[in-house]
Amino acid sequence: MSEILNVPEIFGSDVFNEATMRERLPEHTYSGWKNCIATGQQLPLDVANEIAEAMKLWAIEKGATHYTHWFQPMTGITAEKHDSFITPTGDGRVIMEFSGKELVRGEPDASSFPSGGLRATFEARGYTAWDPTACAFVRDGSLYIPTCFFSYNGESLDKKTPLLRSMDEVSREAVRILRLFGDRETKRVVANVGAEQEYFLLPKDLYAQREDLRLTGRTLFGAQPPKGQELDDHYFGTIRTRVASFMRDLDEQLWRLGIPSKTKHNEGAPCQHEMAPIYSDVNKACDDNQITMAIMKKCAAKHNLVCLLHEKPFAGVAGSGKHNNWSLSTDSGKNLFSPGKTPRQNAQFLVFLAAFIAGVDEYQDFLRCTVATANNDHRLGASEAPPAILSIFLGDELSAIIQSIIDGTNYTQPEKSMLRIGVDVLPAIPKDTTDRNRTSPLAFTGNKFEFRMLGSSQSIAGPNIALNTIMAEELGKFADVLEKAEDFDTTLQTLVCKTLTEHSRIIFGGNGYSEAWKEEAERRGLSNYPSAAEALPTYIQPKNIDLVTRHGIYTESEFHARYIIHLESYNKIVNIEARTMVDMAQHQILPAALHYTHALCDTVGAKGKIGAACKAESTMIADLSTHTDALYDAIYDLKKALTCVPKDPASAARYYHDIITAGMTSLRTEADILETLTDKAYWPYPTYSDLLFY
Ligand code: ADP
Ligand code: MG
Repeated sequence: MSEILNVPEIFGSDVFNEATMRERLPEHTYSGWKNCIATGQQLPLDVANEIAEAMKLWAIEKGATHYTHWFQPMTGITAEKHDSFITPTGDGRVIMEFSGKELVRGEPDASSFPSGGLRATFEARGYTAWDPTACAFVRDGSLYIPTCFFSYNGESLDKKTPLLRSMDEVSREAVRILRLFGDRETKRVVANVGAEQEYFLLPKDLYAQREDLRLTGRTLFGAQPPKGQELDDHYFGTIRTRVASFMRDLDEQLWRLGIPSKTKHNEGAPCQHEMAPIYSDVNKACDDNQITMAIMKKCAAKHNLVCLLHEKPFAGVAGSGKHNNWSLSTDSGKNLFSPGKTPRQNAQFLVFLAAFIAGVDEYQDFLRCTVATANNDHRLGASEAPPAILSIFLGDELSAIIQSIIDGTNYTQPEKSMLRIGVDVLPAIPKDTTDRNRTSPLAFTGNKFEFRMLGSSQSIAGPNIALNTIMAEELGKFADVLEKAEDFDTTLQTLVCKTLTEHSRIIFGGNGYSEAWKEEAERRGLSNYPSAAEALPTYIQPKNIDLVTRHGIYTESEFHARYIIHLESYNKIVNIEARTMVDMAQHQILPAALHYTHALCDTVGAKGKIGAACKAESTMIADLSTHTDALYDAIYDLKKALTCVPKDPASAARYYHDIITAGMTSLRTEADILETLTDKAYWPYPTYSDLLFY
């Protein structure tokens, strides 16, 4: 049935990309746009007008009737409001119009987006500004224009703006380092990201029967099925037909939008899958990932499936993450995390590596906070997800090299007294493909770092803003020292050695799940915040505020707003989950158990009349009664606890974590026991077996 897809032809066909612009714009307009991107200057209005006109004509040919300023508010998902191109001519007809002004600026009513206190409702207007470095595209009859979102006072209300700022910062500081190593050509250093997206697919009809899935995206109840993922029979297994046709459809839609979807496979858990694109600059990677998540959901519906992007849809089964492969490259495509061939290249590699190690060590709390969400709390630390303690995995070879630099000893080169950076050639460092160490939160994989703490439903912006900024910070500090050095090689040697010595505590290659690592990490002075409620208060510590404001990533109030939004979002999610549990327990689970108990009682009554034995029934009735009582108490306690939540967001988060999630666990325990005691015919929703092994 599968028709032939001409991939090169459809790839990017719905994107107003550089090739299309070159083809459709007058030469001076095209070069005007290129110039603005290169220099970061504002687009002159006449250039914007010509781009808008060309974009409109192109979009209409693609079937668009509307345009939308597409932006990424602090909710972590995207927002859009569609305006049609129509303009009345006064005689009852319309023409299709779209001006440069409409392209570069929009004024959505921003009052319903979280602002973390940045914007009062009386100044509800926000504005959106075109990001000319990202391509517009056509989807579902609308021209999508990627934009940044600001308050009327110019404060950033989105995730794109700080990301772009952090990209500029890391570029600026990295170029300073490159100059010191004799690179005169590189104008810009690019932060690249390949974001592997994990997700679950469930049949729509089963999903629809579960209120918890519908309201919260995860199962709040469910006894463990007789079979889990212990046989490892799903990972890389044959993809079932229904899923395969979903994936094919997904790929086609992504390719049309210029998203370089590259790999697809079944993941570790039953019903779990993964899609990974080819990496690109992180701004595009972030836009693309947002589109990917949205299309996954829509496309699943078309195939009578539901796509779950939640970090932990099922307890006891692997959760979903988003492995964030991050690296830096020059504008000519040279990867700055590739160990080189000459002594000079290797010295430069070690500078970038040392800066990364120092930054992650110094700002481990900041990075931890970027993945601190209610959903991710259930995932971190189990079933292949990294633990909540940050550490860097370098692989045996590189770790040994680092150690020899710290110790001042030689590394497999007995004839030399010690490894002198910038003088000796580093041994070739093989790309590490064998030891995957899935428990490491941040693994060096040959020429990039794979950050694995990011949750599957999150925007990739947060951790990448942090990675770019801490890298900019450390590179800047290095450049300050090296630019003043009289003896470059000696200063470099001392600097790298000192940095690695001071920050080697963050390097860890062992089992991140073990109790021993928790103790060891504590001895090393590393932070350990098992939950978002514990992590988030460290977000606004003075060190972090200083970092982000000095680099112009956020103003202090912008940063504080993010903190409030993260807390509030944590509180809201736990609140919704707890209320959903109460609702399901009270209206579905308790009645189901009682009906079944009633049926058993009837049986006992009937059997009693003929004098038959009722041992099984009586024992079951007793068991059911014990647990329905306990369930009733747990419902009552949780309901009561929900009435006592403190007002202040930080105290509320602690309360939700300490009191409410504990109450949810007790309630779930009783409900799950009742599930195992109750006749399936009475049970109100599909079980884990039904869902995971449909
Ligand atoms: P895995 O074994 O984890 O699947 P891959 O080598 O397939 O590893 O890469 C996974 C992701 O990393 C892909 O999105 C890929 O494009 C991306 N990637 C590869 N090289 C780089 C790089 N230099 N910088 C950023 N991302 C990269
Ligand atoms: Mg990976």
